[in-house]
Amino acid sequence: MSNKSAARRRDFLKTSAVAASLLAGSPAAARSDDQAPADSGNPGRRYVIRGGAVMSMDPNVGDFEVADVLVEGKKIVAVRPRIDAGGAKVIDARGRIVMPGFVDTHHHQFETAERSFLPNGLLQNDGSGSPSASPNYTEHVLRGFAKVYRPQDVYINELFAGLSQLDAGVTTVLDVSQIHHSPEHSDAAVQALMDTGRRATFGYFESDGREGARYPEDARRIRDQWFSSDDQLVTMVMGGELHLGKEVYTRAWTIGRELGLKVVAHAVGAFGMRPTLDEVAQGTGGLQVGPDNLFIHMTGMSDETWKKIRDAGAQVSLAIPIEMVMRHGTPPILKMRELGMEPSLSSDVETTMAADPFTLMRGAMTMQRMLVNQLVLDQGDPVPPNHWPTPAEGTPSLLTVQEVLRYATSNGAEHLGLGDRTGTLTPGKHADIVLLDTTALNVAPLNNVPGAVVSLMDRTNVETVIVAGKVRKWRGRLLDADLDRLRRELEASRDYLFKTYGMRKDLFA
Ligand SMILES: [Zn+2]
Repeated sequence: MSNKSAARRRDFLKTSAVAASLLAGSPAAARSDDQAPADSGNPGRRYVIRGGAVMSMDPNVGDFEVADVLVEGKKIVAVRPRIDAGGAKVIDARGRIVMPGFVDTHHHQFETAERSFLPNGLLQNDGSGSPSASPNYTEHVLRGFAKVYRPQDVYINELFAGLSQLDAGVTTVLDVSQIHHSPEHSDAAVQALMDTGRRATFGYFESDGREGARYPEDARRIRDQWFSSDDQLVTMVMGGELHLGKEVYTRAWTIGRELGLKVVAHAVGAFGMRPTLDEVAQGTGGLQVGPDNLFIHMTGMSDETWKKIRDAGAQVSLAIPIEMVMRHGTPPILKMRELGMEPSLSSDVETTMAADPFTLMRGAMTMQRMLVNQLVLDQGDPVPPNHWPTPAEGTPSLLTVQEVLRYATSNGAEHLGLGDRTGTLTPGKHADIVLLDTTALNVAPLNNVPGAVVSLMDRTNVETVIVAGKVRKWRGRLLDADLDRLRRELEASRDYLFKTYGMRKDLFA
């Protein structure tokens, strides 16, 4: 800038109404009452979240440009404008979006020590000799690092992943822990989920088949010891992986159903699983697919199996960014639209992609709309005049931000069997709530609530997070967690795992 233009700029600023604050860099407006409500989540404790833009995700409750949410104990009592809350503590939500916490229906939390270990990695070695072929997920994570985990590694990896997602506004997760080498490993995983203080579904999946592993029979002990009550933040589902072979998955599904647990399995065409799922879906393998099944990915599956899955009322979780990057196959988002099904969203693995809900939602939006937009363009002609065709009848509709928010909240809750207690802001449900800052530099001014969340926000906008009425993150800071200490423990675990597995740590690989 020349001296002359700098002088002109100073002259302008002198006369500008905003000059003072621009030059002083004044701190964010202080709030008069800036403490989290005491004993939040405890029986009888009331507070009101006042004056936010409320997006309930419940069509019967609706959305409000300005409204309040009254919480008592663990539960939402009321959602409407101008609630008279008596002397209840007020959380000032002006300038904030108030909505249900996000739900992730498939996350391998035990792999946190290997975060970004596979930024280019594929599922398996494809023989190309490329940097994506090796290291890869199957060889180096599932059959590599996973083998050397001790129970204490399981614990700190799970805990750190959970706190990280809680910080990002994910109040409910299905943790697909394939690390059950011993009952002690299983107990460490459950303990970490409970210590995280967020809603979680513990997915009891397999080990690497070593002696001492008790999958799937140990499900009975785990259920008795940890999950005798349904009235707790952490619940359980049964892993029933089809690639383990018919004998094992039949036992796992049978035990899961005996215990009244949902049965969850990956279904990945790129892993050669299509014939197995065909057999299961047709009912020719002795098992029946039902509404208690959740299938993950569903890439490359047959049309006939898709119809069976839909008709059986089973659910599907899509990990769209991971499926696109790691060669699972094209996420079947158009197939689901064709069948009138809706997915929930999942993060899958942080070896390769971030686990925040904004990455998942934008992945779904950009991927689905790319496919549909090109379908429409292909109905025209790159050369005018028919270069902008009207979509032909039967063309799939474009995914909207409202729909993708449903995928990321209420669908996830329903798919985990938790729809009666979370996923929407509905009086009587548990108070799993996030406050998102619309005054932030990357969001203001607020013109569209679902649009701001899906297309603009990231985890820095997640200001306050509440789980079952308890405030877990307050004004940008996670509560009740010594993150420096936990990070050091995770780093120590990482160092142990790399050393024991014999993998050299290379920060620029
Ligand atoms: Zn997975």
